Amino acid sequence: MEKIILSSNNTDKIKEIKEIFKDLNVKVLSKKDLGLEKLEVVENGKTLEANALKKARAIREVVEGYIIIADDTGLFVDALNGEPGIYAGRFSGEDASYDENNKKLLNELEGIKGSKRSAYFMTVAAIIDKKGNEHLVRGVCKGRIAEDYRGQGGFGYDPLFIPEGYSESFREMGREKKNEISHRKKALEEVKIKIREIINEDSSN
Ligand code: IMP
Repeated sequence: MEKIILSSNNTDKIKEIKEIFKDLNVKVLSKKDLGLEKLEVVENGKTLEANALKKARAIREVVEGYIIIADDTGLFVDALNGEPGIYAGRFSGEDASYDENNKKLLNELEGIKGSKRSAYFMTVAAIIDKKGNEHLVRGVCKGRIAEDYRGQGGFGYDPLFIPEGYSESFREMGREKKNEISHRKKALEEVKIKIREIINEDSSN
């Protein structure tokens, strides 16, 4: 059975990925399962692709025999020329809380109305196969930034992001519904396709 290692210590992400991959004949492991939870990577790339690859390569340097997956997500707001973009997690400073980032986003968009508040999340996933070949896939979720908090707490910008075709925010719709339409889900479905290809190639060699 193929073994996949995820470059994440986030238990929610790991759960979501295991769920999506459950019909693949693979064993999904986290960094922690391999004792690598302390392997820190400085995300100083200029693109989501660079950061995702950096995280995947850091694991590849210390372990072999696994398919490695790493992801990186950004929020791109049209009226802010794509900001915060790849800096979504640190929009309001290095150790900014989700709430500080959300407040800053609302402030920057003050006076901008309705459809002019369009934005999208993008997740890039990097996959390194056992031979060391690198692959990149993407998932996008379009939407807009609410004019005020729509739900409290939750992950990142969830209380402010209203996906296209919906009237509720990611936070209001709840995790299950969000996970059906999110940028991460779309990227992970692409990852799954790529992993099937990798497994088929391995078994025909
Ligand atoms: P990461 O690359 O998945 O760690 O995402 C970087 C940052 O983007 C997070 O710290 C959040 O602020 C934001 N973010 C990523 N995905 C989501 C999401 O699904 N909802 C809300 N915010 C998100």
